[in-house]
Amino acid sequence: MNIGNRLQKLRQKLTTRELDAVFISQPENRYYLSNFDGSDGFLLITPQDTALVTDFRYIEQGKRQAPDCEIFQITGSVADWFPKLIANYNIRTLGFEAGNITFSLYQQLTDALAKGQSSVKLIATERLVEPLRAIKEPQEIALISQAVAISDRAFEYVADRIRPGMTEKDVAWEIEKFMRENGSQALPFDIIVAAGPNAALPHARPSERVIAPGEPVVIDIGARVNGYGSDLSRTIYLGSPDEVLHKVYDTVLKAQLAAIAAIQDSFTGDQADKVARNIIEEAGYGPAFGHALGHGIGLVTHESPRLGPHSPDVLLNGMVFSIEPGIYLSGWGGVRIEDTVVMENGKINVLSRSRKNRPR
Ligand code: ZN
Repeated sequence: MNIGNRLQKLRQKLTTRELDAVFISQPENRYYLSNFDGSDGFLLITPQDTALVTDFRYIEQGKRQAPDCEIFQITGSVADWFPKLIANYNIRTLGFEAGNITFSLYQQLTDALAKGQSSVKLIATERLVEPLRAIKEPQEIALISQAVAISDRAFEYVADRIRPGMTEKDVAWEIEKFMRENGSQALPFDIIVAAGPNAALPHARPSERVIAPGEPVVIDIGARVNGYGSDLSRTIYLGSPDEVLHKVYDTVLKAQLAAIAAIQDSFTGDQADKVARNIIEEAGYGPAFGHALGHGIGLVTHESPRLGPHSPDVLLNGMVFSIEPGIYLSGWGGVRIEDTVVMENGKINVLSRSRKNRPR
């Protein structure tokens, strides 16, 4: 991981935006820019310095994980420590992450500045670090690939073992155990196993429903390695599939494969989404594909870029994202097929390898 390189890119942005420093509060951004993975703390980044701002519980950890950071220990209330922190640097304009700060903390920061009659101005920023995180370094892609391999194996494992009589929860637990026992950290998101009508809910929670023959079972899982996640969805069935499943499955698969083949470097998220959406609309299921085609995957399961209607995000080499069209029919169920992919040499390289068996 080249943290120096990341900081350099961020500092260029500070100059462009006329910020003397930025106060990082988003946990994954903090980790990305310092390698410190404690649960609490901030970074203060100036053109020359990076301070890790945390409390007693994480001082030792901070020294070990982020040896290049100055460590600033938080003591007392925000009004006590915040003015002391910024007094260490020559700051007039201080950016903060508008999307990742509580209203309460924002008020405490402004109150602390007012009380100390400080002339420092807090400036709201959006998407300062996220676009950097969207383009992965080779080591990051390697970690995501490891997570992908674990979720692939977990899917194959459970697809071979799923039997009538098992509940959605049984299947979810088998997958979770397998992934944890095979190298995954705590899972990046709750496993989805949704059978029959439950599969019409794109983000269903596993229930006590017993899986019946012929109905679709949507399985959506992810593993995590060194903080980096994977995202995989497959739709399977027991016994012989019902009639609707043939048509719906074929449509979703066609849309997914078409998107994988068509998406190229410099496509916008909107253009990418349209490739799959046109196919689903032509088959008459347009309104049943109610979510976006995909999302960036990394330290967070849903990060930049967004592949969806009206998304201006530009897809570039080094980006890792999901391609996951779905069709959801209330009262019947749903089908989603999702791979984790990386843009390489201008084209899509599919990282996940799990079977996509068509219903016969
Ligand atoms: Zn996803």
